[in-house]
Amino acid sequence: MSSVIEQTSEIYGIANWGADYFGVNRKGNLIVYSPENENLTADVKEIIDDLRKRGIGTPVLLRFPQLLFGQIRKLQTAFRKSIKEFEYDGGHLCVFPMKVNQNRAVIEEYLKEGSRYNFGLEAGSKAELYAALAMDQAKDSLLVLNGFKDRDFVRLAFAGAGAGKNVVIVIEKMSELEHTLNLVQEVTAENPEASLPTLGVRVKLYSKGSGKWEKSGGEAAKFGLTTTEILDVIGRLQDAGRIELLRLLHFHIGSQLTDIKRIKNAMKEAARTYAKIRQMGVPIEYLDVGGGMAVDYDGSRTSFESSANYNAREFANDVIYVIKTVCEDENVPHPTIIQESGRYLSAYHAILVTNIQDEIETVVEDRTPMKMQKDDPQVVRELYDLRETINGKNYREYYHDALEHREELFTMFDLGLISLEDKGKGEVLFWDVCEKADQYAQQKKYVSEEFDDLRRLMCAKYLANFSVFRSVPDNWALEQLFPIVPIHKLNKKPTEFATLCDITCDSDGIVDKFVDLHDVKPVLELQKLSPDEPYYLAIMLVGAYQEVMGNNHNLFGAPHEAHIHIGEDGYIIKKVINGETLADVLETVRFDANQLHDQFRRQVMKRIKEGEISTKAGNSLIEFYENQAESYTYLSPNGTP
Ligand SMILES: *Cc1c(COP(=O)(O)O)cnc(C)c1O
Repeated sequence: MSSVIEQTSEIYGIANWGADYFGVNRKGNLIVYSPENENLTADVKEIIDDLRKRGIGTPVLLRFPQLLFGQIRKLQTAFRKSIKEFEYDGGHLCVFPMKVNQNRAVIEEYLKEGSRYNFGLEAGSKAELYAALAMDQAKDSLLVLNGFKDRDFVRLAFAGAGAGKNVVIVIEKMSELEHTLNLVQEVTAENPEASLPTLGVRVKLYSKGSGKWEKSGGEAAKFGLTTTEILDVIGRLQDAGRIELLRLLHFHIGSQLTDIKRIKNAMKEAARTYAKIRQMGVPIEYLDVGGGMAVDYDGSRTSFESSANYNAREFANDVIYVIKTVCEDENVPHPTIIQESGRYLSAYHAILVTNIQDEIETVVEDRTPMKMQKDDPQVVRELYDLRETINGKNYREYYHDALEHREELFTMFDLGLISLEDKGKGEVLFWDVCEKADQYAQQKKYVSEEFDDLRRLMCAKYLANFSVFRSVPDNWALEQLFPIVPIHKLNKKPTEFATLCDITCDSDGIVDKFVDLHDVKPVLELQKLSPDEPYYLAIMLVGAYQEVMGNNHNLFGAPHEAHIHIGEDGYIIKKVINGETLADVLETVRFDANQLHDQFRRQVMKRIKEGEISTKAGNSLIEFYENQAESYTYLSPNGTP
């Protein structure tokens, strides 16, 4: 017999998707393990209680930089071991693609750990490059620039080289090469010894990835140069006498690559391209294999969209082995491998904790035992009979009958034949029959699809204090799954099935697909809500893409944020950053709080002048309004001030 805690951990799949970072302690609370020492843990419920005392309510984003370090080391170790095992001559370096999470804390923490292995950065826009230029990077790390570039962008790259960084401009368009060659001339005319950026080319591969981002690869991809264009770049550089600048060959076939076979095919094609270019006498030394290492969000280890059928070590083995084999076949040196994995490194480190605010009633429940009256309409009596006589043998038939009677009930109401009270009574009875039918159906070995649908209909709808659009936009836009788990009460068996509704006024703001080992769950097992006790859930693995892709829909702003260190004495809250206020989010849509205050005040003053309200009442209205500008955009949990 396994303990309740083991059973609940299994329900939520913590061991499947948790990558050994998460668990449950004896109190039944969710904990985060320090990757360096599994004896050190942080109790997430304690953190939330502590933050509450400091006036930081939910929703709150918790960052655990140590998990970012853990992922960096996992990736670095995997490649180090593969390089050793296959006697590969080249090295392995990472550049963190800033678009995955540009948050300053994330970039700084990444560089702190990554610099030990000469890991650098990748920037895809002028703004990202601008920030990257000011960061301290390890001397031998790279700063790789992808994306479309204008002259200013290229100029900034030269500024970076001037400041001592190893900048690589990856050519996506011929015009970028022209800007670069012009600037090379300009800079070297002034100082022939000036440090220059080096160049890369992004190749369009025939190979495609798998999963949601399949379109990033293949012939029709947005990025990458065709074979002819690459030959043009080489020719142009040779003519300019600058072929020595071309050092890197890049490709990226998409994010969340779920299938290792596709990755291997792309590696083969890219390695062959590298070899052929190398044989032309071009001194390429880096083969940049892009990002795309997938995170196993549902823990199923499959090629399903939210999963991956490989781990870091298999990925590293395949990359190293394929590239080595092709290089030996073609008799060219082994390149140093550059990896641009972002999702894999940063997904785990952040979790969003929020409270369940309430339950949304959709199923009418029978609160007072219902008695039949003589003058009840026939349809209500029949529903009553069904409720009284439904059993394990007839439940399917009776459920179908109930559906029919409900139709009849609505039709009769529309025709004015029954009263509102009769309709209400009939609805309650209908749901009673459904509930009983659901209970009988779930006892059977095989639950037919119609009863699965019924379960979805019957399930509770919990109102969660967050915005899907702000905090898990990929769940809305791409149906990407994120594990969701209560942070406490995990020592009690969940009794309810629920879906989650967020607090936006948008019917898309729901979560009704949950991770499962074999399938996707339509409902999540949760505890029954109790009115005088908060219930907190954590949305896990939200450290990649979600923060910056999240939007202000309904003007819900960035949530509070806390940075947590896991140490000898449990957790240390290193830093708290307040979430956006009403004034902050209104500013993003060009409202100015002061101006709003003036306008509101003017309306109230008019009412005072007209004698509609007293001066005292008016002033307190104004004061209240102005104070709200600094309040949080989310709901205050019920029962808290
Ligand atoms: C987005 C992107 C990445 C990061 O991909 P992940 O799936 O997060 O690893 C890497 N390289 C390029 C060129 C990208 O556009």
